[in-house]
Amino acid sequence: MIPADSLPRLMHGASDRPLTLSQHEQAFTPSSNSTSLLDELEASGLTGRGGAGFPTARKARLIREQRGHSKFMVVNAMEGEPASHKDQTLLGANPHLVLDGAEYLASVIGANHIAVCVARDNPAAVNHLKRAIHERTRRSLRGPKLELHTPPWRYVAGEESALVHWLDDNESLPQYRPHRPHILKIGHGAVLVDNAETCANVGLIGRFGAEWYRGLGTADSPGSTLVSVTGAVPRPTVIEVELGTPLRTILATAHADPDPQAVLLGGYGGSWLSATYLDVPYCNEALGTVGVSTGAGVIVVVAKNACGIVETQRIVKWMANESARQCGPCAFGLPALADDLSQLASPSRDPQGAYQRLVERCQVIEGRGACRHPDGVIRLVRSALKVFETDVDSHLHGAACSAARSTRHYASVPSLEREEELIWE
Ligand code: SF4
Repeated sequence: MIPADSLPRLMHGASDRPLTLSQHEQAFTPSSNSTSLLDELEASGLTGRGGAGFPTARKARLIREQRGHSKFMVVNAMEGEPASHKDQTLLGANPHLVLDGAEYLASVIGANHIAVCVARDNPAAVNHLKRAIHERTRRSLRGPKLELHTPPWRYVAGEESALVHWLDDNESLPQYRPHRPHILKIGHGAVLVDNAETCANVGLIGRFGAEWYRGLGTADSPGSTLVSVTGAVPRPTVIEVELGTPLRTILATAHADPDPQAVLLGGYGGSWLSATYLDVPYCNEALGTVGVSTGAGVIVVVAKNACGIVETQRIVKWMANESARQCGPCAFGLPALADDLSQLASPSRDPQGAYQRLVERCQVIEGRGACRHPDGVIRLVRSALKVFETDVDSHLHGAACSAARSTRHYASVPSLEREEELIWE
């Protein structure tokens, strides 16, 4: 049994090799829990850890209520965020905890199939899952059928409707969903998609119950969560934290720059937050008061020697390349936004005009995509204009900011790092 009220929970028993099934069962001895799992999930207050933060029990109940045809449980371990390594870390520590949660959820909704999805470009995670699924299927042939799927990695491939689209007919394109919640289907069967970390939390709640789960965290954000910390850190790291821990404590645990300029929270479709707010607790109810959220559990730390507009421009340029190009405002609007940011940061290229266009374009693009990819980019750009106001001001007055020629970038964008960027001509 995991000791009550202490960390780690999700990473309990972790070493440099994934726990085998018998090691996992030893580390997580089940307690006798007679209440229905759905009731426990509801009482636990667990919300999805993939980014949207939707209540897990409500999502499961919606699919459970769908009648007819066989249903599917999908585990989303695609980890489309380039700054996130938490799914990979979790699968490298204990893939069975994720699979426990998937099996619990399959039993709640009445699914006969569990599809576990991990990007084929992530061979370590693919191998951990292959081994874990093999161990489980050798142990028992009863229960839902567990299958591993390996779609190609792309930012939008991990969007849940794109994932279901891929499982249904091999295309990684997000589906148009005018109303939320929207029931996704494979064939005629309703599908429940949950992120890998969400499933691992369900695995804990299924074993130890809601009351135990609420022993950590806040009343509105119970439990613990994994956070990927990158940027101004000695090395990118994933740490498990109690929800409600001050941001400053998380940065200190990751050995991050203790006096940064800002942090990007939530991922590349998230928002910048000035370092003035580092004492805010890491949970959505507190972060919401300063206009940000935990999102996909990513924190990118940006030091004082960086230009926030350049950091943002690099991310937007990469996000523009990741558009599935189904919708005009996204396919044409995002590259245009990246170009505006580039011009804003270049004293010789009409920064005033670029700023005006940026503001107008954000209004035109917002809410016009089939998925939320462009809205995430707009959120990022708007937060950059606010948080890096001083940099914007310098650029608008024809001066490069003090960090303009720094070669160090904090938001990692691998494909762009290989290109020769000529934004400072
Ligand atoms: S909004 Fe962009 S990423 Fe989303 S479906 Fe449309 S083109 Fe694709």
